[in-house]
Amino acid sequence: MFSKDEIIVAYTLEKCKSCNMERKRKFKKGDYLFTETSKCDSCDGIMQIEKIFGEIIEKS
Ligand SMILES: [Zn+2]
Repeated sequence: MFSKDEIIVAYTLEKCKSCNMERKRKFKKGDYLFTETSKCDSCDGIMQIEKIFGEIIEKS
């Protein structure tokens, strides 16, 4: 049975192509797989969208 108290939130996982650092953030419109998004925080690499996924959040 599905519960009405669950909502699905979409997330985007960005990964640096140089140092492989991963960063998870909320999905926003315009995010596509393998798009280069921003500069990496820990090196001079470019972050690329590695994965877009949904998580079920239970409302309390
Ligand atoms: Zn990096």
